[in-house]
Amino acid sequence: MRFHIDVPKSKTKDVADEKRCCIFCGRELSGRSDKKFCDDNCRNNYGYQHNKYNNDVVNKINKSLLYNRNILKSITKCRRKIVKKQMLVDNDFDFDMMTGVRKTHKQQEYKLLYDYAYRCVNDEDVLVIRWC
Ligand SMILES: [Zn+2]
Repeated sequence: MRFHIDVPKSKTKDVADEKRCCIFCGRELSGRSDKKFCDDNCRNNYGYQHNKYNNDVVNKINKSLLYNRNILKSITKCRRKIVKKQMLVDNDFDFDMMTGVRKTHKQQEYKLLYDYAYRCVNDEDVLVIRWC
């Protein structure tokens, strides 16, 4: 059994007549239906801006993670140290930025910042350790 679907002629005409524009500069395109850019210049500029945006986002996050990691490193002279949570807050430590979360076999949850980790031992104190 064959099915036939009627597509209104006006609908198909609208799609065919729809103007396509360069996704970088917005100028109207002509030529192949899958064309996205006017020319190589627009393609290259679009790629550069797209990559720059992605790199900027990643760099900003990495900078925050490294800032946190360096705070932990600077206060942990030996392998483990208990510090006041307020001291981390005073140093603009961002408790939302971490590279991972791990639970020990004792079900203690550590927040990781690369090779350092910490966990809150009570409302005021934080245990900071060298993770590896
Ligand atoms: Zn263009």
